[in-house]
Amino acid sequence: AREAAVEANQAKSTFLANMSHELRTPMNAIIGYSEMLLEDAEDEGNEDAAGDLKKIRAAGKHLLALINDVLDLSKIEAGKMDLYLESFEIPAMVEEVVATIDTLMKKNENRLRVEVAPSLGAMRADLTKVRQALFNLLSNAAKFTHAGEIGLEVRSENKEGVDWVRMAVSDSGVGIPADKLDQVFEAFSQAEDSTSRNFGGTGLGLPISRRFCQMMGGDITVESTLGEGSTFTIRLPVEVELASQEVAAEEAPAPVAPEPGEERTVLVIDDDPNALDLLGRTLQRAGMRVVTASVGEEALRLARSLRPATITLDVMMPGMDGWEVLR
Ligand code: ADP
Repeated sequence: AREAAVEANQAKSTFLANMSHELRTPMNAIIGYSEMLLEDAEDEGNEDAAGDLKKIRAAGKHLLALINDVLDLSKIEAGKMDLYLESFEIPAMVEEVVATIDTLMKKNENRLRVEVAPSLGAMRADLTKVRQALFNLLSNAAKFTHAGEIGLEVRSENKEGVDWVRMAVSDSGVGIPADKLDQVFEAFSQAEDSTSRNFGGTGLGLPISRRFCQMMGGDITVESTLGEGSTFTIRLPVEVELASQEVAAEEAPAPVAPEPGEERTVLVIDDDPNALDLLGRTLQRAGMRVVTASVGEEALRLARSLRPATITLDVMMPGMDGWEVLR
């Protein structure tokens, strides 16, 4: 029975991982078109419509975040989550994440204290996943703390001849009961059943972040005292190695300077006509010249002849996919 259950779970994960494009694409269309209509309504001073459209956009974003979490988890469980390794500066990455968390910190009147060891330089890892994990810890700290202090301490350490990056997020918030500490890393699990009612959330952030760190050879650990606060710590090797079955993106080539007069051309590559339309119209409104392509081969030909200033590239496309075009 257990084997059958594991198999069914695997089938569900594979299905969801394959469906991710189908689920995300319409959500993105809903958000994108509501944004476009919202801009029009605001330009026309139509406040009623603008208010309703903001609700559609907010609900769409909320739903997309949920879908993204469920899909990430399914992808991990189906063994379909790849690592894309690149070198990046740790202080700059931390600064970026801190900048995006600012409004969440202010919402509960929390103060954020950031300490980055001056000796820290570059690391090689999957930048998007490191960012997502750090963001998750900081947003949890902000969510579960009121008018308190949140600390982010980033430093390096050497253990058994390996260099590690350690990012510790500590808060003075509600804390987690000792018997619930292990559960917080389990999918769909929240420390208290009332959590979701009081604080929102799905209980998927930590399991996903932890699996990301484990894929990179690291981990996330937690220490907490109920009523006093929690410390979640990410540990990652400074140089993440690829496990053999995982595919790496090659190092990005040096940027090519655009031809004079072509600085404002953007090449938009996407197989979904709605996405092409949305991106195209948004960029045109911002004063760009937009050229679109819906298949990889055509995109490469246009990129070579036009030398656009910027290219937006969809990853999931039939035939030649985004990664292949990028390579
Ligand atoms: P979510 O926040 O969406 O519920 P997470 O996986 O990020 O999902 O967190 C799981 C649970 O762990 C939370 O619901 C909460 O009960 C507990 N938790 C996480 N971070 C903290 C924190 N900083 N302080 C107290 N509890 C926390």
